[in-house]
Amino acid sequence: MERTLAAPKTYKSIFRTLLRAYGPQHWWPGESPFEIIVGALLNQNTAWTNVVKALDNLKAEGLLDLDSLRHMEEGRLAGLIRPADYFNVKAKRLQNLCRFIAERGGVEALDDYPTDRLRQDLLSVNGVGPETADDILLYAYHRPVFVIDAYTRRLFSRLGLVKGDENYECLHAGFQEVLGQEVEIFNGYHVLIVHHAKYYCNSKPKCETCCLRKSCKNTGI
Ligand code: SF4
Repeated sequence: MERTLAAPKTYKSIFRTLLRAYGPQHWWPGESPFEIIVGALLNQNTAWTNVVKALDNLKAEGLLDLDSLRHMEEGRLAGLIRPADYFNVKAKRLQNLCRFIAERGGVEALDDYPTDRLRQDLLSVNGVGPETADDILLYAYHRPVFVIDAYTRRLFSRLGLVKGDENYECLHAGFQEVLGQEVEIFNGYHVLIVHHAKYYCNSKPKCETCCLRKSCKNTGI
């Protein structure tokens, strides 16, 4: 069967190069799986610094728990998460997600679900797209899933390995296929990509000092 991504060994080699350059990186900040889940949803289309402010508002009111969030008046929730942008939409989505979790017995109960089933169920929640679902699976439940975000698309398209405009599921399936089932790779890879994309392969790429320049098709752009 033809692979979705060419040159599968290249992807592990890039991971090793990034790991050598930056060492293990740690993400996602959160004191509990539930905080990571809430943060993943609030992180849609906004900067992480805004998410932190919204989470701090919920913590300051003692409301960062499943029952408080799902029973709270929607308008109050929207006000508390206002710093995370699109707060009215996100309040609805967050309550949808909290109801989904509660109906299945809570955050810990979802840990018993096989990864494919949990991913499908998360995607059935109104407001949870594939990137949010994969963030939750990877960072809250430590499942071997690869997150495709704007950083991933930018880096791998500049490296000449993907076009960059493929649909989410196509790229996701391709990375799952070439990376196998090594949880350590999934845990570390996305964080390293984010780090590299923020500090080197950004809008003004620092190609001259980039650890990937020898294998990059767009060095010097
Ligand atoms: S060489 Fe430049 S374009 Fe290529 S990955 Fe590095 S920073 Fe990005």
